[in-house]
Amino acid sequence: MDLSEYSFVIVGSGLLGSVVAERITSQLGQKILLIEKRNHVGGNCFSEVDKETNIEFHKYGTHIFHTDNERVWKYINQFTNFNSYRHQVLSSYQNKIYQLPINLETINSFYNITLKPFEVDDFLARLKTPLEKAPSNFEEKAISIIGKDLYEAFIKSYTEKQWQVDPKQLPASIFNRLPFRKNYHESYYFDKWQGVPTDGYATMFNKLLSDKKITVLLNTDFFSVRNQLKKNAIIIYSGPIDKFFDYRFGKLSWRTLSFHQETISVEDFQGNAVINYPEKEIPYIRIHEPKHLHPERNYTTEKTIIFKEYSMKDDGKNPFYPILSDDNQQKYDLYKKEADQLKNVFIAGRLGDYKYYDMHQTIEKALDIFETGIAPQIGTIS
Ligand code: UDP
Repeated sequence: MDLSEYSFVIVGSGLLGSVVAERITSQLGQKILLIEKRNHVGGNCFSEVDKETNIEFHKYGTHIFHTDNERVWKYINQFTNFNSYRHQVLSSYQNKIYQLPINLETINSFYNITLKPFEVDDFLARLKTPLEKAPSNFEEKAISIIGKDLYEAFIKSYTEKQWQVDPKQLPASIFNRLPFRKNYHESYYFDKWQGVPTDGYATMFNKLLSDKKITVLLNTDFFSVRNQLKKNAIIIYSGPIDKFFDYRFGKLSWRTLSFHQETISVEDFQGNAVINYPEKEIPYIRIHEPKHLHPERNYTTEKTIIFKEYSMKDDGKNPFYPILSDDNQQKYDLYKKEADQLKNVFIAGRLGDYKYYDMHQTIEKALDIFETGIAPQIGTIS
């Protein structure tokens, strides 16, 4: 196959790469070479159907689509419908189940009291040591909001297990991902639009990439075919940014996940899609039970499948999430400066931008790259 005939090359078929591929073919009529290292498209959003139970599961952890962004919502609805699933998370601490995000139910049940919403601030204030300056890291931020007891029960060890760094070295912004509520609302997200693709993520990706002008090369490492590509091809690269530049400013830190599947002969194992395990002694961070993600499907089986999720540091071979320390951020800024010099290359996505994106943010980024970066260049492509 002659790879040099393609003026557009996309590296990685996750949401970033797939959305840009769809835009270029449908709006500009150009053909695309899409290079994917794995044996399937869809990146970490990919879903599969378990052969024995017929239950659809998310291969790289539960992915709930949620957004307040109308442009993104309208765009993605051209390729899938979403079901009515609303995400709720529970946390298992000392053999008792609590609601998460931490809300009034969590506080009352943890302290065995019955506070009213307007009493929460005073109650927590009495438990907190006043800070001399504004919280500057994850731990300080968390304690300033929920106090030390709740932090130590539900957050500290979970975060250590998840990130493998001292929570003092993480930015406060990661804690901001987790809402804190002084009422009994238990929905994980409040976004206007939420759900799981009714026919699964794999079907959604197949639709995004259905145009015959898109050639997908699976099981292919971009770096081993790079020198066969057309010299002035436009490259949209969604892999790790440090690897693109041959680690010239040093390696960025990443973490990865692994999932251990079990098939269990009961109809419902834990009664919820996700239960978190914040205790240090338990090696996994959460248990997923994907059967709960599709309430609209009539799974008839008397069996269920569960996935125990383990989080670990990654040496750059299988990166899932950036580890956002100051040190890494400084290195990333150097790579970003280099990337900005390249006219024909767009580096983006969670691994390319070194950011903790949710799915809707990645789609927005892809639409922006297409509209402001790629479409205006079309006249210059030969
Ligand atoms: N977190 C925690 N305990 C939990 C859930 C989350 O300490 O039970 C912390 C953890 O540091 C995590 C952050 O809150 O990285 C944000 O949580 P979120 O659910 O957004 O993480 P995700 O599952 O999307 O990686």
